[in-house]
Amino acid sequence: PGKKDVVEPITERRKTRQLNVGGVLVGGGAPVSVQSMTTTRTADIGPTLQQIAELTASGCQIVRVACPTQEDAEALPIIAKKSQIPVIADIHFNPKYVFAAIEAGCAAVRVNPGNIKKFDDKVGEIAKAAKNAGTPIRIGVNAGSLDKRLYEKYGKATPEALVESALWEASLFEEHDFRDIKISVKHNDPVVMVKAYQQLSEACDYPLHLGVTEAGPAFQGTIKSATAFGALLSQGIGDTIRVSLSAPPAEEVKVGLQILESMGLRERGLEIVSCPSCGRAQVDVYKLAEEVTAGLEGLPVPLRVAVMGCVVNGPGEAREADLGVASGNGKGQIFVKGEVIRTVPESQIVETLIEEAVKIAEEQGAD
Ligand code: SF4
Repeated sequence: PGKKDVVEPITERRKTRQLNVGGVLVGGGAPVSVQSMTTTRTADIGPTLQQIAELTASGCQIVRVACPTQEDAEALPIIAKKSQIPVIADIHFNPKYVFAAIEAGCAAVRVNPGNIKKFDDKVGEIAKAAKNAGTPIRIGVNAGSLDKRLYEKYGKATPEALVESALWEASLFEEHDFRDIKISVKHNDPVVMVKAYQQLSEACDYPLHLGVTEAGPAFQGTIKSATAFGALLSQGIGDTIRVSLSAPPAEEVKVGLQILESMGLRERGLEIVSCPSCGRAQVDVYKLAEEVTAGLEGLPVPLRVAVMGCVVNGPGEAREADLGVASGNGKGQIFVKGEVIRTVPESQIVETLIEEAVKIAEEQGAD
């Protein structure tokens, strides 16, 4: 129990260069990592570190913090030092904060060339400072802040415009012999975004950071990100991901992890196989599935748990899972490893499943 067949990803990952972002490898076959961004004022060190701790607990592997002011820049050394996961400083507008972030020991720096005035003139200095410190740079092109020249050329933020902007900036770094780069070309339209990343992936071997920018509130943003990332990841494109939601950042991480699990790019944790219910259901499946999910969240072993509303598919699915219930007649047949171990009244289904799940975890030696 608890041990499941390894799910093979849909396709092989595209070969990209590898970066080391504060100990998290990105690209070159490393597992796809999940990122998020804090929503606190970075200069408020306590709340920022608190949020980073929450993100770390939710499974976030790399965190980005905004750095729009001098005060924020001054907070970076302590945040970079105390964070449990690598910190990337996010710089728009003012190149002097790029240098401050590198000096502060940030694991990487994100720059938005479209938003930094005279960026091209600064690339040499940035490349030199980043190289000396061993700090990778993300070139983060965004549809909302595309370089003016490219707006004029393309009329709007087309996939070609986003890619041209990114490759142009990368070429400036390359002129200074700097290649510790990853790239993002974000757009709020998943179709434009997918095309942009496809083109980018054809044109270079830099690791790619996937993101649908301004994806919207949780429901819409989740769907947009899942469809766009799914399309790209199924073609082997993407080395690190960030789901952008108008919701607390820990939600972004949850969605990101779930996308990777669904795509077979990460070991599946708790997987609830629950039926959608129908006219045959003899139990409130939605409520049962929610209660079981809440009760088993955070269990330290991978587990597939079937929650089925009746006996049509119920026993079959419950047998395929590590643990399951098939309901009927006010009772639940509890299955472990394909065997019915007990039949309990409906009111005891949730507690019995939790009890059995904990036993499975203990058998596997988890604390
Ligand atoms: Fe309907 Fe039963 Fe299938 Fe659930 S398991 S959808 S209740 S037939």
